[in-house]
Amino acid sequence: MSSALEAVRRDFGGDIIEPGAAEYESASRSVLAAGSPVYVLRPETVADVRAGVRFAAGTGLVLSVRGGGHGFAGFGTNDGGVVIDLSRLANVQVIDDERHLVRIGGGATWGQVAAALAPHGLAISSGDTRSVGVGGLTLSGGIGWKVRKYGLALDNLAAAELVTASGEVVNASAEENQELFWAIRGGGGNFGIVTSFDFVAHPTTDVFYGRITFPATEAAAVLQGWADYLRTAPEELTSVADFANPFAGGPEAPVEIHVAFDGDNPDLAAQAIDPIRRLGTVTGDNVALVPYEDMLVDGMTPPPGIELVTRSAFVRKESVSEVLQILTEAGASGRSPFIAVHSVGGAVARVPDDATAYAYRQAELMIVTTTVGPKPVVQAARPALAAIWGRLAPHVDGAYANFLASATEEDVAAVYPGETYQRLAAVKRQYDPGNLFARNHNVLPQ
Ligand SMILES: Cc1cc2nc3c(=O)[nH]c(=O)nc-3n(C[C@H](O)[C@H](O)[C@H](O)COP(=O)(O)OP(=O)(O)OC[C@H]3O[C@@H](n4cnc5c(N)ncnc54)[C@H](O)[C@@H]3O)c2cc1C
Repeated sequence: MSSALEAVRRDFGGDIIEPGAAEYESASRSVLAAGSPVYVLRPETVADVRAGVRFAAGTGLVLSVRGGGHGFAGFGTNDGGVVIDLSRLANVQVIDDERHLVRIGGGATWGQVAAALAPHGLAISSGDTRSVGVGGLTLSGGIGWKVRKYGLALDNLAAAELVTASGEVVNASAEENQELFWAIRGGGGNFGIVTSFDFVAHPTTDVFYGRITFPATEAAAVLQGWADYLRTAPEELTSVADFANPFAGGPEAPVEIHVAFDGDNPDLAAQAIDPIRRLGTVTGDNVALVPYEDMLVDGMTPPPGIELVTRSAFVRKESVSEVLQILTEAGASGRSPFIAVHSVGGAVARVPDDATAYAYRQAELMIVTTTVGPKPVVQAARPALAAIWGRLAPHVDGAYANFLASATEEDVAAVYPGETYQRLAAVKRQYDPGNLFARNHNVLPQ
């Protein structure tokens, strides 16, 4: 090990942080998981990433790749292994003004991207939180406030540069290494470290954004009406419904319909949003015109000892009513997790199913439950959570890797159904036959 460490110290321009170093405490953890890695490497350049990958492979230790560090399953750290933390590869540059092509470092966050693109009048279909990483979110999907108009974050990816398990640099796009390009759009971090992403951004004005709230007692009618309306709503409108928030009264918590209208025309925005206002008794409405950048929220790091169990699934049109009914009943029961229902469809569903490794394009909704609290509270909530998901199982499809706190074989099969998994495994055999990149919803090379 020591000769490998000496070699990497020679070739590596960034920091190597070991236990005992002043920065170790913060460097060892990802946002949602504590860890005790032996080395945290912070590369500054692609050459550093190559040296880091070769070093990690040589140690035989488990390797975590950290983008923004927000993964729910805690893949961004480990115990006793190596972490390659990409946070210094965060440059954001418009590389083609006419095509709105933007090159983004593999460790940038969406807040950095939004801030850098705002002066150009551009934004990328991404997520809702500033501190979330471009890497993790994009490689498994990316469902954000422009999703119905411009699709998933990965649908806006034009090319990527990766360092593979052998330390080689490869490019992936529609022209080069097409099968790898297919795989990294949905297959997560299985195939290498993405050092830069080229995205097509979209001209972006200020947007209408806010929250319209309804009493919990109207949840069933509001949610059904909301889902029905979204089938015909303009695609400029993207919406998320939250309810049963344990920090806002649990079963009594209001139903919050978050709306984002991609445009600054007040009449068009009102036409799109008013039908939602008519779904029930509005108890709050703070929809306002805001810069896109301000619509993103700051993420929170939970205090030590707090656990999060996040589960997700997709819902096709024919199951929407049944699923919303089950979730509404669960929300009213007093033993419910926090429930969020995301509208998808629109541009997501127009991309052919086999164009990328993201497997659930035909879903109308993506549902997420989050159980949060100290370990005993989370443990005590598990039977009720299992019962809810047991009821949902016949009506939902798969799971969204980005909202999944576990990574069992069942989870991996849910994220990558049959044919998708087989095709990903063939790409894995080519680019990572030794499964160096295994801290993810792992596709085995066998
Ligand atoms: C507060 C919060 C808000 C969220 N909001 C949204 C949302 O609006 N929409 C949505 O779709 N998702 C959302 N998510 C989920 C989010 O997409 C996932 O948690 C995602 O994994 C975060 O990526 P990251 O880079 O921050 O995390 P990390 O933990 O750093 O990365 C997760 C995994 O992705 C891989 N990875 C990351 N970067 C790279 C890279 N450059 N090269 C290769 N592999 C890489 C690695 O396997 C890594 O272990 C949210 C999560 C949180 C905690």
